This record gives sequence, C-alpha cells and structure tokens, in this order.
Amino acid sequence: MQIKRNVLLNPGPATTTDTVKMAQIVPDICPRKKEFVSMMKQMREDLVRIVHGDLNKYTSVLFCGSGTITMDVCINSLLPKGKKILIINNGTYSMRAVEICEYYNLPFVNFDCPIDEIPDLNQVEQILKENQDIALVYTTHNETGTGILNPIKEIGFLVHKYSAVFIVDTISTYAMKPIDIEKDNIDFCMASAQKGLMAMTGLSFVIGNTELVKKSAAYPKRSYYCNLYMQYHFFETTGQMHFTPPVQTIYAARQALDEYPDDENWSFEKVHDYCYKRGFTIYPGKTSAQNTFRLCALGAITKEDIEDFFIVLYEALKENNIQIPIHYDV
Ligand SMILES: *Cc1c(COP(=O)(O)O)cnc(C)c1O
Repeated sequence: MQIKRNVLLNPGPATTTDTVKMAQIVPDICPRKKEFVSMMKQMREDLVRIVHGDLNKYTSVLFCGSGTITMDVCINSLLPKGKKILIINNGTYSMRAVEICEYYNLPFVNFDCPIDEIPDLNQVEQILKENQDIALVYTTHNETGTGILNPIKEIGFLVHKYSAVFIVDTISTYAMKPIDIEKDNIDFCMASAQKGLMAMTGLSFVIGNTELVKKSAAYPKRSYYCNLYMQYHFFETTGQMHFTPPVQTIYAARQALDEYPDDENWSFEKVHDYCYKRGFTIYPGKTSAQNTFRLCALGAITKEDIEDFFIVLYEALKENNIQIPIHYDV
C-alpha cells in the first residue's frame, strides 16, 4: 500500500514512518488477553527507561487521550487535602495547567512570568518560603509556543528543598531532549505518543515516582476517569488499563518504540577519518555501545567553520553510503 508522505511541521501530531502506520493493521484482539497485557507491561518499562528511571523507583501509567489528559491527571490526582499547587507559568501550556486548577477549584498560586524569559529562581524560592502549604509545583519543560526551555533541574532542586513534589510537562521534550528523571529532580513527567515517540494520537503517559503514586491513594479523588492512582492500581493488579484501551494506537506506539535511528553503514572511524583529513576533528560518543558522536563548539571557531564542517560531514556520510535523512531500523 502506498501512503502519501506529508511533512508535518506543526507541533504534533508528528510525521510517522509507514511501518508505524501499518502496525495498526492487526487482527482484532480483546485487550484483556495475555499477549496484549504483556506488550503493555514491556511498554510501561520502556517508557521509564527513556528518562533513565530506575524501575525499582519509577513507574509509568498509560492513559487513553491526547497529552492534555496527563496534565489533568497529574494536577487533579497529586494534590493532598488542604494543600496548594504552585504553577510556574511562562507560556500557554502552563496557562492550561492554571485553567485545570480553576476547573477543579484547587487552591493554587499562579507565578505569572514573561513568556520570553525563564522564571526567576529567587522569586520561585521566595514563593515557596512564604507559602509553606505548597505541596505541589508544576512547570512546563519546553513551552512549545515559544521554544523557551525551562531550567527544570534547578527548579526541582528548590521544590525538593521545600519538601514539595515536582510535576513537569515534558510532552514536547520527552524522547527529544535527554531527560534523567532522578538527576533532573523530577517526580512526575508526561509524554504523548504523537510527539517525540513519533506514533499515533490517543495514547499518553505519566512517568513518576512509584512511592508518591501510592501515597496519592489517600488524596481526594477529583475525577473518576482521570485518577492516577486508580489507573496505576488497576495496571499493577491486572496488567490492564481500567477501561477499554486504544488497542491499535498501542500497537503503533510499540512499533515506534522499536524503531531507533540506525544505519548499518554508520562507522564513527570512517566518518572521523574523512573529516579529520579535511581539518575537522570530531569526538566519539560517551557510551561507545551507542552510535553517537559529539561536537563541541569551543575555542576560536567561526560561523563559517561550522558551515564548512556541515558540508564536509555531509560528504563523509554520502561517501560512506550512510542514508540522509536518517534511516530507521524497522
Ligand atoms: C502538545 C503539548 C501538550 C498536549 O497537547 P494535546 O493537544 O493534548 O496533545 C501539552 N504540553 C505541551 C508542552 C505540548 O507541547
């Protein structure tokens, strides 16, 4: 089957590979079957691994919906009774979180910042100091509308200093920017299948600290369909989603998780040698097991040097029959 390829330059859903599209064409299956349950178990673990989470400490929970469902879930499920949530707000996605608080009638502090600046950390600390009843802090990693990348590690450090829980909307960075859930001081983050994972809309994920999920069992239940602990508990006891999962969308997401950029012709040595002969030194990736390399723009380097380098790198890839754009291992 020939499927027309559209290059989507909108911020989600993403252009997908044909193999991901075709992964949805499967025999009808009851999602309560063992085969489907074991696929979801594997997927939940892979989702934690993407943010380098220790599976003994972190878990992931699947929800049927677009990314916003996970914002709703985290906000309505993780606020203890009588406590406040702080929204560090410098863009439209954080504004959406403010609206969620309003709709649920939650006590919140809206730290309204200019949309073209990162939030002032001194002010964040001041708010935390003055409001000892803030139990939850929410921010957006990358405000998709402006491209502002917020300093989540530094914010998370302050949040933990004041013994609060840190929720980060990582929907437009998950599987795109390196995230280390523990080192970046994140307690809960979010992802949606149709963004960085390059799969289909209709499936979203909360990845977070297992102990804190369990603790939230005692918090007020504000939604029937969108409660984090309820969905987690159902997964843990039955391996299934509480209500009917988006079966075909999950097959597509499984396929997308299996597709990593790869090219059998890739050779760091060959590309290195080609560039080196032409005056450019590139450096191997940190983990030699992974096919990565590093570029460092340090020293008396000009814009022209960078432009020339990309010409030489392009030639090196062509010379070695390495596909451009990237080839996906399917
Ligand atoms: C895409 C996106 C969402 C979710 O939007 P949906 O339309 O519900 O998928 C949430 N936060 C950020 C930062 C996003 O980029």
